[in-house]
Amino acid sequence: MRLDKFISKATELSRKESKKILHASEVTVNDEVVKDPGLHVDIINDEVMWAGEPLSVATGNRYILLHKPEGFECTLKAKEHPIVTELIAVPELESLRIAGRLDVDTTGALLLSDDGKWLHRVTSPRHAHAKVYELTLADPMDESAQAHAIKKVSEGILLDGDYEPTKPATLEFIDDTHARLTLVQGKYHQVKRMMGYFGNKVVELHRASIGHITLGGLDKGDSRFLTEEEVAQF
Ligand code: URA
Repeated sequence: MRLDKFISKATELSRKESKKILHASEVTVNDEVVKDPGLHVDIINDEVMWAGEPLSVATGNRYILLHKPEGFECTLKAKEHPIVTELIAVPELESLRIAGRLDVDTTGALLLSDDGKWLHRVTSPRHAHAKVYELTLADPMDESAQAHAIKKVSEGILLDGDYEPTKPATLEFIDDTHARLTLVQGKYHQVKRMMGYFGNKVVELHRASIGHITLGGLDKGDSRFLTEEEVAQF
């Protein structure tokens, strides 16, 4: 947001009056005096002060994409590992909730927000947003084992302890130990349990996308705010 707009939103001042206090060197952004009314300020991360007093505008809800590294828990309170919100540098972390958790050893796309209704739309089975997982298997699967698994997964399989089979899903093999699995639901340890059904073990698991949201060039451990367009997709 432009600095003069930010000031007039955060105070009772008009845009013209905002420019005046800027001109009078009364405003700092991150401890530097700024006179340029057109300076872009990040309304969440930049610290704007007028005559030594902090200014802020209502931020509304936050919608964040994190590239989760291995070794982090998707919980609110750390049990055995550090928690994913430690990787995110925004205020009021405690109000963020996770849409669709990943295991400690799983990497990839994780969405967080403080908008409960939106989180529900992301995870609700009714909305059936596709999640793409890339996995590495412990044991190679030959062509006939692959064909069997592809067919069973597309029909749905009954996992141990469940009453209903999994929803039809798409399994594609890249080679005999690497595959891509697209799910429209999120049962507990679903990918690992589905491959366990075929007597195999997932040794590496990465979520490449959730709906239309992909990691793009986001490095492991980095996060970014979703664009308005991305938020509206759910
Ligand atoms: N399925 C799993 O087994 N683990 C994950 O982290 C995500 C989906």
